[in-house]
Amino acid sequence: MERLLDMAKKLDEMETNISKLTWVQYTAGYDFGIEEAYKKMNEFLEDKKNYELVLEYKGKDLNPEDKRRVEIVYNMIKPYHLSKELNDLNLEIQKKTNELSMILNTFRFKIDGKEVSSVEIAQILSNEEDRDLRKKAYFARNQINKPLADGGFIDLINLRKEYAKAYGDKNFVEHKLKMNELSPSIFDNWKEDLNPYIDTLNNKRGEYARRFISEEELMPWDGAYVKSKIAPALNTTVDMSKYYDYVRNFFLNFGIDIDKFNITYDIFSRKNKSEWGYNFPIKNGVDSRILANVKNKYHEYGVLLHETGHGVHSFLLDPEEIILNAGVSGIVTEGIANLFGGFLYDELFYKNFFDSSVKEQFEEMQEYEKLDYLRFVGDIFLDHELYKNDIKSLDDIYNLYFKLNGELFGDKPYNEEPPFAYRIHYTTHPIYMHNYFMGDVTCEMLKKVFYKKYNVNSVAEKPKEFGDFLINEVIRPSGLYKYEELFERISGDKFSLKWYLE
Ligand SMILES: [Zn+2]
Repeated sequence: MERLLDMAKKLDEMETNISKLTWVQYTAGYDFGIEEAYKKMNEFLEDKKNYELVLEYKGKDLNPEDKRRVEIVYNMIKPYHLSKELNDLNLEIQKKTNELSMILNTFRFKIDGKEVSSVEIAQILSNEEDRDLRKKAYFARNQINKPLADGGFIDLINLRKEYAKAYGDKNFVEHKLKMNELSPSIFDNWKEDLNPYIDTLNNKRGEYARRFISEEELMPWDGAYVKSKIAPALNTTVDMSKYYDYVRNFFLNFGIDIDKFNITYDIFSRKNKSEWGYNFPIKNGVDSRILANVKNKYHEYGVLLHETGHGVHSFLLDPEEIILNAGVSGIVTEGIANLFGGFLYDELFYKNFFDSSVKEQFEEMQEYEKLDYLRFVGDIFLDHELYKNDIKSLDDIYNLYFKLNGELFGDKPYNEEPPFAYRIHYTTHPIYMHNYFMGDVTCEMLKKVFYKKYNVNSVAEKPKEFGDFLINEVIRPSGLYKYEELFERISGDKFSLKWYLE
């Protein structure tokens, strides 16, 4: 396996380099040659000698672990050796995606002619008593739809459709699922599975509408506001200067000491820095970096716990296992991060800031958020519909949007243009959003399996054991198996939404 591992190491170095360059661009706004770095990696992947090496290993009689290693590298390199048409299309898609992400990054929303940041819009949606002002802020987000369409968003959709067809796949959704080692039928039962829970969701939303805004139903511009009413403690001002100690002490409960890991935090806002939250997995087990933008609100610890979860995950992987680590599913990664992010509502973490008087509101919030998260399936499915239907104009997309949300949740269409394009995934990460949702399903499964195995009702009862369970049952074997296989190995059952819903 030596020559294959050598090749994987070279590829890994290029990825590490790209990751470092991206970190600089996101934290300081400088581009020290990202396009050049991508070009170098493309050339490496297109190199016939490298492909032949992988094919040579593919023909060998190997043990199951090595077989899996070869499979992972083969899946990475194969698309670059099928046809010139595919490589040309790939390049065109790459270029168009970059152009459009520039539009997304530089665009600023306006309310009454005045520029507002995404964080400010989120604050209005969460805190503003005046429903009309909230509505105005909500629809400010649709201002990016047209510039993005004018920049070629629909062309990009069509290029991806063309690529999937040239690859020989039914459509781009199936193509992406195949690339991510997921069954093409993975979403088939979602609508039916969700259906019985939509009434519960809508009833709960109606109840909150009457309780907090004296209306019969919640509109999209009421959601964040109502949440701030259910759990006002989330908006409590806290001192963030000691964030590292709180986070470190929390992870010690699980037997994990982040002092031993090389995790860099850049958590306060400044000019030319991205406004969102990320983990940059620079190099597994060697270097992990966290970008966030916090402003002394308790709920922002949720982001720090989630992103630190990614960092911890990276350091619990074996840095020598470069190939297997590349085979870890994005669903597992997000699931583990969400698992730790969820402790925002658990006494194990909130005891640093509150006494048990917040217990009730946090429990109510957690329960409601879990139910309300079902609405995110609307975003996931809209992404699919874009590639399953003929799209000629923004109006075609709006019609799909209203049809889909009508079918899923019984929503009625409104006159304004729905905000959708502001969510960067439609442009930069197509057919990806399910990772977050399925990550949560995975997270629920892990907890249920752990509770049963250790005869407890919460992780907080045996955090050390839970840390060991996570490392041995999930993290260690996670590169060895495709996501659905791993899920079945741990739970003894196939992946389904029932783990989340029941
Ligand atoms: Zn994440």
